[in-house]
Amino acid sequence: MSEAEFDFDLFVIGGGSGGVRAARIAATHGAKVGLAEEYRMGGTCVIRGCVPKKYMVYASDYGHKLKEAEAYGWNIQTGVFDFRTFMQRMHDEVSRLSGLYYKGQTSASVEVFEDHAALLGPNSIHLTKTGRTVTAKKILIAVGGTPWHPSAAEMPGVELTIDSNQIFELTELPKKMVIAGGGYIAVEFAHIFAGLGVETTLIYRGDKVLRSFDEDIRDQVQAGILAAGINFITETVIERVDKSADAASPLLVTLSNGDALSADTVFLALGRKPMTDGLGLGKAGVELGAGGEIRVDDWSRTNVPSIWAVGDVTGRVELTPVALREGHAFADTEFGQTAWKMVHTDIATAVFVQPEVGTVGLTEAEAREAYGDVDIYKTEFRPMKNALNGSGERVFMKLIVKPADQKVIGVHLVGPEAGEMIQMLGICVKAGLTKQQFDETCAVHPTMAEEIVTMRTKWQPTAV
Ligand code: NDP
Repeated sequence: MSEAEFDFDLFVIGGGSGGVRAARIAATHGAKVGLAEEYRMGGTCVIRGCVPKKYMVYASDYGHKLKEAEAYGWNIQTGVFDFRTFMQRMHDEVSRLSGLYYKGQTSASVEVFEDHAALLGPNSIHLTKTGRTVTAKKILIAVGGTPWHPSAAEMPGVELTIDSNQIFELTELPKKMVIAGGGYIAVEFAHIFAGLGVETTLIYRGDKVLRSFDEDIRDQVQAGILAAGINFITETVIERVDKSADAASPLLVTLSNGDALSADTVFLALGRKPMTDGLGLGKAGVELGAGGEIRVDDWSRTNVPSIWAVGDVTGRVELTPVALREGHAFADTEFGQTAWKMVHTDIATAVFVQPEVGTVGLTEAEAREAYGDVDIYKTEFRPMKNALNGSGERVFMKLIVKPADQKVIGVHLVGPEAGEMIQMLGICVKAGLTKQQFDETCAVHPTMAEEIVTMRTKWQPTAV
């Protein structure tokens, strides 16, 4: 088929972060672009992920702030939280953003199909609802991921549980909630619901949450979970979930440690899987990896020369800004004048537990593995605000420095606004700044962040 015979220069499957960015940028480079989204424009991040989750974090944190405000002399009258009103406002905002995503595409002249798309071959796509087949010179798969859960054989009663899509559809605030998992989603939602006054239990199969994070961060988050009043059960999994006759807590959760818990909501946050079912990847000959992810190289190229993939479906780093950059790099490289690729190192990230985690670069264990000896600087303190409000919440900061050239190769924070701080520190780590350059930077006073530039003494392990 000659170039002129294709319906599109680019067809994007998936209207989430990676897909919409790639489609819009390719279109601004002059490409004729089509995009199919079967659900709502915006993808996981906007519709049932980062955005509504962050609003729920804010809602939960206002509860803490009300208490703090009282300690600062404010008379807080009722302190009652109206879940329905909040959820309605949150969904209205999500709808507004989804609309903007749609508009962003159409105003860039991307033709949007509200339809399920499946590959028929390396250059052709079938649109299910309309039954139409379209052709494209290049195809980008950006369909994201979906929550993973065990089968009913592995966990009887799994159909009584909810996942990280359904959590945003709750119409009533749960009273007793059991959350399973120890990753980003489980710990963030344990804090959200505990902060909203829900009796919350977190069940984790390991001994410490947030595997792959720096050990000090894991210890801090673990302590924060207990301080938030979350009932935290480790080295345990849910064996089964049954209906119970108790109208107030209609679910009975049987645990591997022999205990049973009653609950009205059981939320599984056990990881996500690439959403490749029904995509026709076999028909086009696209190869998958062991975890079902689409295998791609550094340029997001699959094994089929006309097909690329970006975002969570590739199983690289499952974060919105990563998908955005992968999509942008693909579009510039294939349709613009500049070839560039996403570099998957030194990606700053935040976990919106309360207080937040911010992290970038290597953990201490990774740094020791890579460089042997490393210099560590740590500090822990009570933020100024808490001197008056009685909160026990503290701030923890850690810098990891490579001795040979004094470059700061890891920064790990726990504390209020750690997510905001780590964005700036991500620039420093990415730029390869040294500890001396941190030391030469004048502090901003009085802030929490000033401690980052005033850590002078290397941390020494306590002799036992
Ligand atoms: P994660 O992969 O982070 O965590 C999954 C958790 O489930 C782990 O604690 C894992 O345990 C546990 N688990 C897995 N399988 C089982 C099982 N069979 N039985 C019991 N426990 C199990 O996934 P999430 O769902 O929390 O989040 C998915 C991704 O979404 C994250 O990796 C992150 O990239 C992204 N995300 C980012 C956010 C942010 O930027 N703030 C917020 C939310 C999500 P173990 O540790 O032992 O493996």
